[in-house]
Amino acid sequence: MSLLDRVTQAFTERLGSTPAVVVRAPGRVNLIGEHTDYNDGFVMPMAIDRAVWIALRPRTDAHVHVHSLDFNDSRTFPLDALQHANAGWIEYLKGVAWALQEAGFALQGWEGVLSGDVPAGSGLSSSAALELATARAFATVSNLPWHPARMAKLAQRAENQWVGVNCGIMDQMISAAGQAGHALLIDCRSLETVATPLPAGTAVVILDTGTRRGLVDSAYNERRAQCETAARFFGVPALRDVAVEMFEAQADELDPLAARRARHVITENARTLEAAEVMRQGDADALGRLMNASHTSLRDDFEVSSAALNAMVACAQQEPGCFGARMTGAGFGGCAVALVNAADAETFASRVATAYETATAIKPSVYVSEATAGAQVL
Ligand code: ADP
Ligand code: MG
Repeated sequence: MSLLDRVTQAFTERLGSTPAVVVRAPGRVNLIGEHTDYNDGFVMPMAIDRAVWIALRPRTDAHVHVHSLDFNDSRTFPLDALQHANAGWIEYLKGVAWALQEAGFALQGWEGVLSGDVPAGSGLSSSAALELATARAFATVSNLPWHPARMAKLAQRAENQWVGVNCGIMDQMISAAGQAGHALLIDCRSLETVATPLPAGTAVVILDTGTRRGLVDSAYNERRAQCETAARFFGVPALRDVAVEMFEAQADELDPLAARRARHVITENARTLEAAEVMRQGDADALGRLMNASHTSLRDDFEVSSAALNAMVACAQQEPGCFGARMTGAGFGGCAVALVNAADAETFASRVATAYETATAIKPSVYVSEATAGAQVL
């Protein structure tokens, strides 16, 4: 059963009518542009065909009542007296309500049923999908104007300040503003976006290594600090402002470790802009080469890959139908992403899964995904 049917049917069983509205917001995978967002740089995510869905109807009071099918758990909260509780899925909804109200929006209560198929915690951003589905639900029942970038920023604020997770803007932007068949080139400084077509005849395959790593937070903070140090050395606000030529001219005066970190960010920004260019030309080979180069840079210069991610990427790159592959997301575990010939996608997926399991003794999850629209009302 599709998730649309699942939430609609569960709504009808629990609330005794058909829902007034169903909303959906997708997870995402980043094709290229990794660890560039917090350097004011460029990213190229696409919205995937896995999403959070909410079937709902307005309430006349200022309360939200939600049942999560995945957690088999019902929760309520009052919009006029929001209070933090222990961490849990409902905190994302409260956080969005809080951020919307802080921005001056008057919110209407609603009741509904929620379910999603973005695997939580695997780096496909189920949290952003949940936030944007919630924002879309509130926008619909409260008659708020839907401005994707504005809503993305408020959802990010909810995650940063209510849930307490220090994430960048990429996940919320793509979940809010994705376009079917396209990735989105996002300028993380201006939040300007350019829908960029996936090359015809290609498919995107997400390869989950099945590994998760702790200590990601401290490594992440360390990388951020190293990038800031490098930006100060170059006398610019962020590494976004350093061109490859400028870097090469001055890199030998920089501490060698900081220089490698900076080289990743600076060349990754250039690769991401070039990716947009070759995508516009429909050049899958060139895009694949840029993805391969991104992986090498993340592995050797930025040092955020892992044995499992390297094994997965190597298995993918060996396959004949593969244009390119790289780790995606923060690193140290989680997923890789590959661009493959669409006709070979299913064969590719099963062959890489087998090769990876043989190499690592870990069973991976593999998803072939289309690029879908961002948060929407069905
Ligand atoms: P991710 O990398 O998937 O974003 P996070 O840890 O940031 O991982 O967010 C995962 C959390 O989001 C879950 O623990 C849960 O609280 C919430 N969440 C994700 N999907 C759902 C869902 N289908 N139903 C309810 N809550 C969800
Ligand atoms: Mg998340």
